[in-house]
Amino acid sequence: MELRICHLYPDVLNLYGDRGNILCMTRRLQLRGIEVETTGVSVGEKIDASQYDLFFIGGGQDFEQEVLLEDLAGGKTAEIKSAIEDGKTFLAICGGYQMLGHYYKTWDGQMCDFTGALDLYTEGSKTRMIGNYMFSFDELPGERIVGFENHSGKTYLGPALQPMGTVLAGYGNNGEDGTEGARYKNVFATYSHGCLLPKNPHLCDHILLAALKRKYGEAELSPLDDSFELAAHDYMMNRLSQA
Ligand code: GLN
Repeated sequence: MELRICHLYPDVLNLYGDRGNILCMTRRLQLRGIEVETTGVSVGEKIDASQYDLFFIGGGQDFEQEVLLEDLAGGKTAEIKSAIEDGKTFLAICGGYQMLGHYYKTWDGQMCDFTGALDLYTEGSKTRMIGNYMFSFDELPGERIVGFENHSGKTYLGPALQPMGTVLAGYGNNGEDGTEGARYKNVFATYSHGCLLPKNPHLCDHILLAALKRKYGEAELSPLDDSFELAAHDYMMNRLSQA
């Protein structure tokens, strides 16, 4: 078996170690004997979505998001939308998550029209939402996802869109309605940055399985020794539970 990963804008969108999520997916696949190939696709390059099973989009500051508007409109938006509708797996983080929505209006009034691939929008606020945070994930009942967020954008989901889960500590989508992230088909979108998959191996395998099942119909992942990962997870979970 093999998964082909497309890392969108690796040189522009890579905050707080977001690439660590790709390293984590790669390692967990390789440990199961599954081959992985990651290709970066950046500004001015075409995505041939049929070549990839899993797309990763990291976070970026307002400035970087504004820089990418022209490139998105020049063909990538259409490719991203059709790949999503086709059931390809996406993991999108923070600024990358916002870019899957209709628009982002920055705190100083700059309007960024994004892909509209997902029914959501984001509006900047003057207060930044920063820190380690924790949320439940509806598809893995009982599990706690720990992560790190840093955004001024408040994201609001349209009625047909499900969140990933519920905020247990921190801010999540907007600090108001208790939701975190968005789920649609095989899209996983979240505010949590680079520590997301390394500290939540159960979530990593869940996303990998979505991509493998989409490609091969049936797939299983053999268990790994996650003691270091779970020690990091539990440390943060306990710290946030006591806060
Ligand atoms: N520019 C966005 C915001 O501040 C996203 C930031 C990020 O990706 N960390 O809301």
